[in-house]
Amino acid sequence: MKLVRYATKGGSTLGIVKNDGVVDLHKHWPALGDDMIYLIQSWPDIVAGLPNLVAEATPDAALAEVRLLAPVGRPGKILAIGLNYADHVKETGQQTPAHQIWFTKAATAINPPFDPIQLPMASAQVDYEAELVVVISQRCKHVTKERAPEVIFGYCAGNDVSVRDWQLRTSQWVLGKSFDTHAPIGPWIVTPDEIGDPHTLGIRCLVNGELRQSSNTRHLIFNVFDQIAHLSQAMTLEPGDLIFTGTPGGVGLAMKPPQWLKPGDRVRVEIDQIGAIEAAMRPEAL
Ligand code: ZN
Repeated sequence: MKLVRYATKGGSTLGIVKNDGVVDLHKHWPALGDDMIYLIQSWPDIVAGLPNLVAEATPDAALAEVRLLAPVGRPGKILAIGLNYADHVKETGQQTPAHQIWFTKAATAINPPFDPIQLPMASAQVDYEAELVVVISQRCKHVTKERAPEVIFGYCAGNDVSVRDWQLRTSQWVLGKSFDTHAPIGPWIVTPDEIGDPHTLGIRCLVNGELRQSSNTRHLIFNVFDQIAHLSQAMTLEPGDLIFTGTPGGVGLAMKPPQWLKPGDRVRVEIDQIGAIEAAMRPEAL
């Protein structure tokens, strides 16, 4: 199943994709509201009824006519791993990490999948990073990698937009990764039954139609399950928490000379079996 949040006249709602349309879940379960995290928590109670509902429902809107929102509007945490594809490690001149390198992105960086991404006033070194994003399904701690699939609610495409001068001029990357609008995700959450093994997915980034990154999640150094096992030794993971699982080679930083995103550039992230998000770069306005 593909679950979306989208804008309506009165605000926003949750939906489920049916062919080229979207079925408004709020109409059938008013208590759901527009909160994906509440839907994730309610999932065990509603999932059995969903296939019938979708089969019988007429879509309430065409997908092409709605403005999709970030499927999780305000995650409790956004965790992201650095240097997790060998070709990306090499292009940045670093050593393959012995330990997983984690940083956070601010929850306020979340952005809808097709809305403009800000080029901040504070920097001219804005870069893209195509990433598979994992959505956590339940409160959990000390999850083994064997049991990690049990705590995955679904997957999205994401762009770990990075402000390279702010990221790299100190040892902590958090600020350079946390500018407003720099965590676009979507276009929906795809449930694991439609994905199967998450380590077989082609992943690409295109800038103005030019292929910049092209890899496969089989090349992850620490795979999705390793990541959940590692993180959950340290902290409780909660429904709706997001994990950005790393980016392959081909970032603008590593081009010679470096190619930074400019006003009007269109950045597209595609992942097989999930879909694509695409946004124009727009200068930040006061
Ligand atoms: Zn990244």
